[in-house]
Amino acid sequence: MAKVYFYYAAMNAGKSTVLLQSSYNYRERGMRTLLFAPLIDTRYGAARIESRIGLRSSAISFGPSDNLLNRVRTEHESNALACVLVDEAQFLAGEQVWQLTDVADQLNIPVLCYGLRTDFQGKLFPGSGALLALADEIVELKAICHCGRKATMNLRLDADGRAAREGAQVEIGGNDRYVAMCRRHFKEAIAATGSSPTHSPFPRTKPS
Ligand SMILES: [Zn+2]
Repeated sequence: MAKVYFYYAAMNAGKSTVLLQSSYNYRERGMRTLLFAPLIDTRYGAARIESRIGLRSSAISFGPSDNLLNRVRTEHESNALACVLVDEAQFLAGEQVWQLTDVADQLNIPVLCYGLRTDFQGKLFPGSGALLALADEIVELKAICHCGRKATMNLRLDADGRAAREGAQVEIGGNDRYVAMCRRHFKEAIAATGSSPTHSPFPRTKPS
C-alpha cells in the first residue's frame, strides 16, 4: 500500500528543496507528480514552490475548503500519477489530511507532505497535528540553531526585530521574520522581551 509521509522541521531546514528534489527524482524516471501549495503562501506568486537555493516548480494551489482527494482523482484518471507532494503542509485543514490518506489508501498513490511542526508560540499547526496523528511515516528534517544545536522552534520577530509573543498564527509575507532556534534559545529570546501581563502563551516561573 502507498503511504502518507510527513517531513517536518523548523524554518529554513530546506523542506521545499527536499520536496522539489523528490519530485525531480520521479519525473526523471518518466513518472508524473502532482505538487500542491497553499494559497496562503504567496511569497513567490500563486501556485509556485521555490526553494531558497533556487529550485522552483509550478504547483496547484489549495485553499482550506478544497477537496484534495477529488482533485488528485481527476488528475490521476486523465494521466496516471506516481506521487503527490504538498508544500507548507502545516496549512492543510484536518479534513484535507484525511483526504490525503484516501489518496494513499484508495488511489494507492504515495503522498509526501512537508511542513512546520509548530508555530511561533510552540503550538501545533492544525495540519501538522493531523499529519502527526495520521501519517504512516514521520521524518524530521534538521535545521540548526546559531549555537549549533538542532533547531526545533520558530521564533517570530516583530517589526522592531524583537521576539513576538502574541499575534495570529499565520502572518503572510516574511520568511525573514522567523528564526529557527533550539528550544533553549527560543525560550531565552522570549524571556528577553519581558513578561506580558495578560494571556501570555509563555507562562514564566517566578524567580525564587
Ligand atoms: Zn541554540
